[in-house]
Amino acid sequence: MLVRLMYASRAVAATDQDSLLAILRKSKANNPVIGVTGVLCYSEGIFLQVLEGGRSAVNRLYNQIAADKRHTQVELLHYEEIGERRFAGWSMGQVNMARLNPALLLKYSETATLDPYAVSGAASLALFEELVATAAIVGQP
Ligand code: FAD
Repeated sequence: MLVRLMYASRAVAATDQDSLLAILRKSKANNPVIGVTGVLCYSEGIFLQVLEGGRSAVNRLYNQIAADKRHTQVELLHYEEIGERRFAGWSMGQVNMARLNPALLLKYSETATLDPYAVSGAASLALFEELVATAAIVGQP
């Protein structure tokens, strides 16, 4: 039983490259052990993350992440049972926001900023999929 979950959250303080790397390093160490894959996107204080894997593993990890003090306002945007993974290639990939075309953000939102709180879960997932397709994913699988 596979599921896909997407949430948004706000970083508590200015998150620098080191704290992002620490989160990615931890994810890459932990996720393969529990069979979870996904992609993390960070832009101007906002995290957007997709997790895919077994239902129990994804639910447990999401609860663990939601309790993490490094971010707040964790909001579930999308949850579905799936037949196959879309982000199977990464234990936790990172979207390279430097490669992002602002027109892509405008396609799904009122302004060219990443604000998943202002759009529907379906729009955020569609944006996320295009981000993964068009912006480079940083980091090893
Ligand atoms: P430890 O790393 O030993 O952590 C123990 C406790 O300390 C946890 O409660 C942890 O939240 C807290 N902690 C650890 N480092 C810090 C720090 N620098 N500042 C404040 N508190 C800290 N983990 C994954 O395994 N997979 C993911 O995909 C994943 N994605 C994440 C995405 C975001 C946006 C954030 C903020 C965190 C993410 N994490 C992820 C980290 C997750 O929230 C837990 O910290 C981690 O899973 C706990 O790992 P551990 O059991 O080895 O405990």
